[in-house]
Amino acid sequence: MGSRAAQQRQEARQLAARLSAEGVRNVALTWVDNAGIARVKTIPAERLAAAAERGVGMSPVFDVFTSDDAITASDHLGGPDGDLRLFPDLERVTTLAGQPGWAWAPADRYDQLGLPHPACQRQFARRMTERAAAAGLELRMGFETEWVVTRAPAGHPAAAGADEPLDYPCTGPAYGMTRVVELSDYLRDVTEALSVQGIDVLQLHPEYAPGQFEVTTAPGDPVRAADDVVLVRETIRAVSVRHGLRASFAPSVVAGQVGNGCHLHLSLYRDGTSLHRTPDAPWGLAPDASAFLGGILGALPALLAIGCPSPASYLRLQPSHWAGVYQCWGVENREAALRLITGAPDDPDGGHAEVKTFDAAANPYLAVGAVIAAGLHGIEYATRLPEPQTGDPGVLGVRERARRGIVRLPATLTEAADRLEKSAPLYEAMGEVLHGAVLAVRRAEEAHFAESEDDAIAAATRWRW
Ligand code: GLU
Ligand code: MG
Repeated sequence: MGSRAAQQRQEARQLAARLSAEGVRNVALTWVDNAGIARVKTIPAERLAAAAERGVGMSPVFDVFTSDDAITASDHLGGPDGDLRLFPDLERVTTLAGQPGWAWAPADRYDQLGLPHPACQRQFARRMTERAAAAGLELRMGFETEWVVTRAPAGHPAAAGADEPLDYPCTGPAYGMTRVVELSDYLRDVTEALSVQGIDVLQLHPEYAPGQFEVTTAPGDPVRAADDVVLVRETIRAVSVRHGLRASFAPSVVAGQVGNGCHLHLSLYRDGTSLHRTPDAPWGLAPDASAFLGGILGALPALLAIGCPSPASYLRLQPSHWAGVYQCWGVENREAALRLITGAPDDPDGGHAEVKTFDAAANPYLAVGAVIAAGLHGIEYATRLPEPQTGDPGVLGVRERARRGIVRLPATLTEAADRLEKSAPLYEAMGEVLHGAVLAVRRAEEAHFAESEDDAIAAATRWRW
């Protein structure tokens, strides 16, 4: 133990020296709270070794913060007492291209005695990854990032009301090259910043809604995928600011329009072999992959309270908006909540699945952990995938949907939270403290927006994530 600590100290000192040679003055240590907001403590670069050794103090009350910065309470958390230690993950320290003089590291949270904090979402994600590994499964995951870009207003960005006019810096059509031409310097800078930070960009394109774009990045292990999406988002935000722009990752930027999703892609491997490429198996899925996906499909109503955690999420979740609002799966079906992607036939890693329903208000660590827990539960109970859905379930009549056994996923946060509250597998996986804190935050978000009109919810949450 002693020698490990000494080695860590040595590594941290070397890292601090490298950062200082690169002109880094400050390191931002982020964690994501249960309302999906990346919160931060920053330290001078020369304090990195001390932070790696002893952590940085922070209050456990952040676990019951809501997206409007109000504070609620759960049975275990809330109030002014107690302290935690935030430990930077030295392996992920990244010099930030969009914020000269800054570096970033994701952090894990421990108590004063050095024990894992039971509500640490990043450690939850790691625990679930290890649980999958104990079952012989390796997961590769990646989030898609969608965002809407507007011109920053002359005044303070926070001075935005419900009737704030959105000033789009591009006017081109959905998916149109015009938008790329209009914002070509900005988009190049986003891509370059990501790539020098070690993020492997797969593609970037204009999306459907006004001012909307999407970037997809290479998959990695689940914790890396969650770290990556935090880094991607903060990088886009930083590059936007430098271009006089603002980026919104909110689920519903304008109520009634297509929103921002944050779809989670995943693939399963055993002994290095993809379980999505099994010869002669239905849809190429090995039995464990089919059961894992069946577990996710079955748990989707409860998972929505993790992946769609804001009342604003339910403005986005409209039928026929590519958000996947019915509890069904489909092969390459963009209206299915769970989409199977077959990929190019000669690509051994091309086959994977996508949870379409999630958005960027989700804590990505909770999202990957909960999806793994649901998938492993599916394997434990030998769940089978039902028949896939083709076409848009939203255009079918009520009776035809009923005949096919397709039900609507929760249409409100209350309904999703009720399902999470009753979900035994997610309660078991998350543990009482984390599960209770997440539910307390969901209930507080519901109460906060209970009387609000859709436009007001979208305006109030537009710049929160
Ligand atoms: N913007 C859509 C959503 O809300 C997704 C569009 C797409 O299929 O990428 O999730
Ligand atoms: Mg998209």
